[in-house]
Amino acid sequence: MSTVPPPTRASRTKRTKKADVAALWRAPQVDRSHRPGPAPLPRVVHGLELLCGLGFGAVVALALSVENHAALASAGGWPLAISRVAAFAGSYLLLVMVVLAARLPWLERTVGQDVLVRWHRRVAPYGVSLVSLHVLAVILGYAQMLKTNVVHMLWSFWVNYPDMLMASVGYGLLLLAAFTSIRAARSKMKYETWWVVHLYTYLGLVLAFMHQIRTGVMFLGHEHTIEAWTTLWVGVGVLIALSRVVPPLVRNQRYRLRVADVREEAPNVYSVTVTGKNLERLAVSGGQFFQWRFLTRGLWSHSHPYSLSALPRPPYLRVTVKGLGDQSRAVAHLKPGTRVFVEGPYGAFTRHLATRGRATLLAAGVGVTPIRALLEDLPAETDVTVIVRASSERDVVHGDEMRSLVAAREGRYHEVLGRRDEVAFDDAALERLAPDLATSDVFICGPSGFTDEVLASARRLGTPDGHLHYEAFTF
Ligand SMILES: Cc1cc2nc3c(=O)[nH]c(=O)nc-3n(C[C@H](O)[C@H](O)[C@H](O)COP(=O)(O)OP(=O)(O)OC[C@H]3O[C@@H](n4cnc5c(N)ncnc54)[C@H](O)[C@@H]3O)c2cc1C
Repeated sequence: MSTVPPPTRASRTKRTKKADVAALWRAPQVDRSHRPGPAPLPRVVHGLELLCGLGFGAVVALALSVENHAALASAGGWPLAISRVAAFAGSYLLLVMVVLAARLPWLERTVGQDVLVRWHRRVAPYGVSLVSLHVLAVILGYAQMLKTNVVHMLWSFWVNYPDMLMASVGYGLLLLAAFTSIRAARSKMKYETWWVVHLYTYLGLVLAFMHQIRTGVMFLGHEHTIEAWTTLWVGVGVLIALSRVVPPLVRNQRYRLRVADVREEAPNVYSVTVTGKNLERLAVSGGQFFQWRFLTRGLWSHSHPYSLSALPRPPYLRVTVKGLGDQSRAVAHLKPGTRVFVEGPYGAFTRHLATRGRATLLAAGVGVTPIRALLEDLPAETDVTVIVRASSERDVVHGDEMRSLVAAREGRYHEVLGRRDEVAFDDAALERLAPDLATSDVFICGPSGFTDEVLASARRLGTPDGHLHYEAFTF
């Protein structure tokens, strides 16, 4: 095992410290010196789901309440009615979509970011489609009402109606985010480009807000409706600021993280130990991840999700990173002293999911990282079986640490080594290595192919879905 990069101007004291840092993660943790991560809040989440449904009903009812026979029978009546309901329902769903991506800590640790992203992706097309229906129907409705053609009507909206031009720009930004999220388009883009385009959604929503209040029929002369709608929008803005902006700034000021050590753990896999202040106050569970931003010239503008690869040992935290692309490869060259900015902790892949007193943990490749931290965090009485899959012995990440953690619990540790086409990891192998699989909580992390195969095998071997837990390394 070698250290990368070699320390520049390394004094003897610095070298001693470096050796201490490496030994730190290998020694079993005797007394927990960090704050445990808080428990998930399923009741709050169910309450929120209910509130969300009721809110949608109320918004649609409000939009319908202004309709009447005379209005529907007049020129452009039907398209305008459709446009109003679509506008209200669509904007509401866009707000829900934004809240799902706001990384609210209590939502995060209850359902996990991967599930929230999935919900966000499910809601988004409905929101965008309804707003698009609103745009088409309002142009058509006004054109019919004013007996003009749709092109002239669109032009007239831009030049004669308050805030319409701004709203159109907002809609354009929304469409841009929607198109770049289509799988075929997204796979051709750099993650960072896609992320910046997505950020413009917030701007798009802000630009669209004023035209709703100033031109929406249900708002004209209805002070209470204006107040309620504005409160909803401002509330969502405050929620985003309170989860994505303020806490990271406060926490990073409190923790003041810096790189302490970078170490090669396996070919192309490096662990980064960072040191900071007040880390005993950081509440985090094994298996959770942070968004990491290393403040060097080339890396400061990108944040990447990496799971802690061990429970914190204040004043230290550690992540272990496999070099897959430009950013993750650059981690190997971080210099001690580099400032680090983190957001989190996030994720629901934690000990709180373990309810059966017996756990089987399966990891492949760099998927070992959350599994290693989770293993350290599971209740002492949990009976564990750990299975690590890797192409060769050299590719096993943190093998020694896992082995000694399992030994300390008197559990079972297995490594399945060899290329996929040479060494089968099928139902029979899984049953042989983990005979209690069906009655265990099963935790899986690795490449998606590995996760899918293990999930399928575990189901065939009788593990109920509710006890199968996995962390995906892609959103
Ligand atoms: C919850 C979670 C935990 C993770 N934990 C670890 C870990 O402990 N160790 C580890 O080595 N890897 C981990 N990853 C994967 C790691 O985040 C990516 O490998 C890394 O971001 C790749 O960045 P890149 O620019 O070097 O590669 P690229 O070539 O840009 O991307 C490689 C892959 O990573 C995805 N990716 C890139 N940037 C991001 C981002 N900011 N957010 C989400 N996905 C991104 C891309 O879509 C692509 O699929 C984790 C991912 C997630 C979602």
